[in-house]
Parts: sequence; C-alpha cells; structure tokens
Amino acid sequence: MTESLSFWPVECQEGEPDLFVCLTCLEEVFQAKVPVEGCPGCGAIGAFEPFKLEAIKDWGTDDLIRKAEQWPSSSVPAKVSSSDQPVE
Ligand SMILES: [Zn+2]
Repeated sequence: MTESLSFWPVECQEGEPDLFVCLTCLEEVFQAKVPVEGCPGCGAIGAFEPFKLEAIKDWGTDDLIRKAEQWPSSSVPAKVSSSDQPVE
C-alpha cells in the first residue's frame, strides 16, 4: 500500500515552536506542516498545535517523543551518540 499524505506547510519563525502535535490522540507529530486530511492516526482535523521539542518531552509519551525527535530541528542539535546513558 502506498499511502501518500498531503500537507499544508506552516511557516514558523525562528525560535517559534515548529512541531505540530495532534491534541486528540497525542500520537502524531509533524514539523512545520499539518496533514490536509487530518491526523493520520485518529482522523481529527484541525487538532494540531505547535510545540517545542522540550515541551513534548515534558508531557509526551515515549512514542511521541521518539517521533518528535526524528524531525531535524534547528533549535536542537542532533544527538546520536548518547544512548549509553539511561535517562529515565
Ligand atoms: Zn490524532
């Protein structure tokens, strides 16, 4: 199955939160864009709100945080070599 999603681009100022989280299921996150058809996980439309990665790390599920971290963020330097330290 080839499932291609369409997105609305969202312009984000530098320093502004650019990770859009679905507030209905809290399971989908996109950077600087929101799905035209609504959330691919739960189907909610217009439920996406921008957050910073730090905020998502505060209250997000492990799954959501993982998804958020895979988006390249200009405000957070990519860190790949520190998985040897248990954080939680
Ligand atoms: Zn959703």
